[in-house]
Amino acid sequence: MVLLADERARLYGRRQEDAEDEERLATLSKWQEAWDRSTKARWTHRLIPNIRVWIERRHGELNYHLTQLLTGHGFLKHHSRRYDYNQSAQCPVCPSSIENAEHVFYHCPRFSEERERLYSLLHEVMTPENTPRLMLASEPNWLAVASFAYSVVTRLRDEETDRRFDDAARRRRHSNQASMKRITPTPPSP
Ligand SMILES: [Zn+2]
Repeated sequence: MVLLADERARLYGRRQEDAEDEERLATLSKWQEAWDRSTKARWTHRLIPNIRVWIERRHGELNYHLTQLLTGHGFLKHHSRRYDYNQSAQCPVCPSSIENAEHVFYHCPRFSEERERLYSLLHEVMTPENTPRLMLASEPNWLAVASFAYSVVTRLRDEETDRRFDDAARRRRHSNQASMKRITPTPPSP
C-alpha cells in the first residue's frame, strides 16, 4: 500500500520541499484524489484521509505493529479467514462483533487495560477519526500509540498461538482414538 509500505513516499515529500510548491501540490492533490476514489484499503483511508499531513510528518517511523493497526492486515481473523474458512471472524469474547482492526484496537474489552494506559499518555480517548492527529501531535504521542499497538498485537498473536495449539492437540486426540479403534480387535459377542 502506497501510504504505508513505501516510506520513500515520505522522503519524496521532503525532497520536494525545494521544488516548486505548485507542482508539489498538484502531485499531492492527484494522489489525494486517487486515494479518495480507490476502493481498496478503506480502513486505512478512514484513519488517514489526508495524505499530505501524513507524508509530510516530521516524526514517526512505521513498524510492524503500527502497520497492523493502520491496515488491519495480518493475523486478525477477519483477514486470515480468507485463508482458513473454518475460522470464525467473530471476536471470541464479543459474539456480535467481527474481530477486525477497528474492533480490536478501539472497542474490544479484552484490551481495555492497554487502552487505559494509552489514555493516560494521550489524555484523550483515541478514535479512528482522531488517530492521525494524536500520532502526529508529538513524538511521545507517536511512541505511545506504537507501544499500544505493540501490546495489542502481541497479545492477539499469543492468543492465536494458544488456539492453534489447542486445535492441534484436539486433532491429535481424535486421530489417536480413531487409530486405537482400528487396531483394537472387535470384542467377541457373548
Ligand atoms: Zn471483542
